[in-house]
Amino acid sequence: MTPEARAAEFDAADPLAEYRARFTLPDGVIYLDGNSLGALPRSTPAAMAKVVERDWGEGLIRSWNSAGWFDAAARVGAKIAPLIGAAPNEVIACDSTSVNLFKLIAAALAMRPGRKVVLSEPGNFPTDLYMIAGLEAQGLAARRVAERDRLIAALDGDVALLMLTHAHYKTGALHDIAALTRAAHEAGALVLWDLSHSTGALPVDLNGAGADFAVGCGYKYLCGGPGAPAFAFVAESHHADLQQPLTGWFGHAAPFAFSDDYEGAPGIDRLQCGTPPILGLAALEVGVDLIAEIGVDRLYGKSQALSEFFLESLMAHDVVLELVSPPRADERGSQLSFRHPEAYAICQALIARGVIGDFRAPDILRLGFAPAYLSFADMAAAARHLADVLARDEWQRPEFRERAAVT
Ligand SMILES: *Cc1c(COP(=O)(O)O)cnc(C)c1O
Repeated sequence: MTPEARAAEFDAADPLAEYRARFTLPDGVIYLDGNSLGALPRSTPAAMAKVVERDWGEGLIRSWNSAGWFDAAARVGAKIAPLIGAAPNEVIACDSTSVNLFKLIAAALAMRPGRKVVLSEPGNFPTDLYMIAGLEAQGLAARRVAERDRLIAALDGDVALLMLTHAHYKTGALHDIAALTRAAHEAGALVLWDLSHSTGALPVDLNGAGADFAVGCGYKYLCGGPGAPAFAFVAESHHADLQQPLTGWFGHAAPFAFSDDYEGAPGIDRLQCGTPPILGLAALEVGVDLIAEIGVDRLYGKSQALSEFFLESLMAHDVVLELVSPPRADERGSQLSFRHPEAYAICQALIARGVIGDFRAPDILRLGFAPAYLSFADMAAAARHLADVLARDEWQRPEFRERAAVT
């Protein structure tokens, strides 16, 4: 049986197949980059138009109360909470992932006086390492351990915070949140998980693991749109002690009392800084509602089936590529990454055929399988395109080798 014939059977039996129609995707495109910028939910434009025309245009400033603007950040956070194993009052949608990292790294250091080290790994997402570096001027010391099986041994009495990304952005390799959180706590350290490549694609159980802090991205699997607000999680047990350095007025206990002195809000609201981006939150809310409706367990099951089927389809075409993602589906996020010296040109040749994946320097072709809107037919077609690009040396065409600014 050809991959296309098998795909038709899988699609016919797929309980999530109906959700593809809930997204807008251009004809002729197979979108394998939903792990970088999620697709547009079909109902986002109308929801945005309502917020712009009715709530802003007609409601004007009254909409802070009448249209639920004032608590939008907490409301959207509460909807993200069940996707990551958190309670509704432990998550807030605000700022960017980078800014949320800054606030929570600083908060963790304040909670571990006498300890200065933030432990992470080289090759973590750049902004995560950069945000650690930015706090070095405040006395923080960065420590990176490359071998994953040596992270636990590096948790000595100087470590205030272990900070890792659950699903690695380049390879998709997963860390064991529960085991590492336990080890960090045994060493007296706190833990901050970056869930940017997990949230909305695979289940996470922060409270089951006893995690302290987490952040994640709104524009990847949550489909909140470019530059969507990110989210931050703080375990309720830390709310009373939380001190974060961006003490803006929206994190105040009573912002509209206009007092001269800062007093942090009692709960997760303390993580807010300035006025929340209402338009961005409105778009994010649509994406979160849709992902929550489909259900993260079902999404993860389909994600694993899609990537396994993609690998099978490549084999059917005798494609041999170096897989840098873990070969076992339950050890990786919702992506497959392949190493090839010409990965950039291969990626460009695929894009010219309508298969949008991405390239990660220096030599990684990264294909993301956002399970909410991809079909098994997409997998079969993408595998056939990749096989053709390689068999015909199509990537050697000069136009595919020229580098653009944003890859
Ligand atoms: C995408 C991503 C980010 C993005 O950070 P922003 O501040 O939202 O640009 C951060 N961390 C990881 C691990 C990511 O994958």
